Amino acid sequence: MTEYDVAIVGGGHNGLVAAGYLARAGARVVVLERRPFVGGAAITEEPWPGFRINTFSYVAGLLRPQIVEDLELAKYGYEPILYDPQSFSPFPDGRTLSLWTDLKKTQRAIARFSAKDARAYPRFEAFWDGVLALVEPLWLAPPVPLADLVAAFPGPEAEELVRDLFLRSAQDLLDDWFESDELKAALATNAVIGEMVGPRTPGTAYVLAHHNLGVLGGHRRVWGFSKGGMGRITEAMAASAAQFGATIRTGTAARSIVVRNGRAAGVTLESGEFVRARAVASNADAQHTYLELLPPDSVPAEVVRRVRRIRSRGAALKFHAALDGLPKFTAAPTTPGPHHAGAIEICPSTDYLERAYDDGKYGRFSDRPFLDCELQRVRDPSMAPPGKHVLTCFVQYAPYALRGTNWDEFRPAAAERVLDTLAEYAPNLRAVVRDWRIVSPLDLERTLGLTGGNIFQGDLTPDQLFSYRPIPGGAGYRTPVRGVYLCGSAAHPGGGVTGAPGHNAAAVILEDLPTLAR
Ligand SMILES: Cc1cc2nc3c(=O)[nH]c(=O)nc-3n(C[C@H](O)[C@H](O)[C@H](O)COP(=O)(O)OP(=O)(O)OC[C@H]3O[C@@H](n4cnc5c(N)ncnc54)[C@H](O)[C@@H]3O)c2cc1C
Repeated sequence: MTEYDVAIVGGGHNGLVAAGYLARAGARVVVLERRPFVGGAAITEEPWPGFRINTFSYVAGLLRPQIVEDLELAKYGYEPILYDPQSFSPFPDGRTLSLWTDLKKTQRAIARFSAKDARAYPRFEAFWDGVLALVEPLWLAPPVPLADLVAAFPGPEAEELVRDLFLRSAQDLLDDWFESDELKAALATNAVIGEMVGPRTPGTAYVLAHHNLGVLGGHRRVWGFSKGGMGRITEAMAASAAQFGATIRTGTAARSIVVRNGRAAGVTLESGEFVRARAVASNADAQHTYLELLPPDSVPAEVVRRVRRIRSRGAALKFHAALDGLPKFTAAPTTPGPHHAGAIEICPSTDYLERAYDDGKYGRFSDRPFLDCELQRVRDPSMAPPGKHVLTCFVQYAPYALRGTNWDEFRPAAAERVLDTLAEYAPNLRAVVRDWRIVSPLDLERTLGLTGGNIFQGDLTPDQLFSYRPIPGGAGYRTPVRGVYLCGSAAHPGGGVTGAPGHNAAAVILEDLPTLAR
């Protein structure tokens, strides 16, 4: 029987990144993915012939450039497409706001709403440059205690900055900077994405920061598409890991992590096969790892209690549609244009967003949901046949536990509401939709094993970040069982296609491997 140095449970992008780094360092690694293909939440599928959709994650940018370089992902097919404008927001009064990668162009767009805000915008950008410079190095390292962040951030403003980012809401932060609610609405969406929180929930300023860490093609704080779809990223990661010597097995579900004499011994598969390994890294979330994969008697009761307290609330669904033509926005030229090329935000005001959240927090799908929509085919012809398009909408708020109904029943009604909401801005929508598909929070749990349907393997709020992720007193990658690690987004710095948890976990495992006897 082959004995591996490290068995990785789960071939999500973080499992693959960990495998790549471990194999590159000479370790014998096997990735065990239960689905028929790797990628986890970063995959591209073809539900209708010729139409390719990013089933779960849909925009790239957070993936750390160092990882792209170290694992030579460009060589294996990863190619980001920076889109411009970064966002296009139509408003009910017929006005629109586009935020571009070019600062002056963005200022001109903002000036139509507020000259004062247009003047303030460069300083706002500089503020985020500063945040990025401080937070970025913390992402590719084990988590520091939250209290130590004040010390990690130099300068007299550190204390205020930590307060602003971790304790205040996005609304408070944006109110400090701007007067135009349209601008605040366009910016606030990144502060709630994937979370059951509203723009006025304390701590959402950090959620905004987390989604402001994109780096693509020399641009900072940006998003883009992955040419060919998000699956290209994980295909490239798998090819890279395999080239460094990792073994990747799909259709291979882990039933349990085997612990002997208090240390990792390997993994038992659902098939009954035993995979021997000196170390086991779990790409699954903390709940599945601690409560289902590890033997109950191997984890201290206090750790189990903390794991059970992890908040992991589904807040969003994906709506996908195959289109026979482009949506025509009443507020923009009806011909194809830049407004089709990037993110289209249906979020006319911060009140709208907060009210959408109000529905969600009481267990209802938002009466008027916030939509983040993309038409990748406009920039990337590989996504649909000529003349056709694919629409992907990230939709909030979609609570995992619906009051009085369930996702299997409610799916068609949710689709109708998404269509109605977008059709208010693009009335031809129903005429061009040829087919649609919804991925609900329940589907996320069933398909990817995301507890509670939370897209990030646990809420990304400050009480569950840095030294609190996944649990206080057990942050980072090592678990209480020697030789067992977490390597997915349940661990620092959390969710998003960043590769950071996989990178950091690999470093910790490589440090420990010499001490883990055969
Ligand atoms: C709907 C949605 C939209 C998103 N949008 C974006 C976006 O646009 N941009 C962005 O940057 N991020 C986005 N995210 C977040 C991002 O996709 C995730 O945070 C990230 O992909 C998680 O990667 P991971 O490797 O940590 O875990 P996952 O991708 O969850 O991978 C875990 C893997 O483990 C496998 N597994 C679990 N249990 C077992 C077992 N017992 N045996 C074997 N295998 C097992 C699963 O099948 C899965 O493949 C989105 C997420 C979702 C769900």
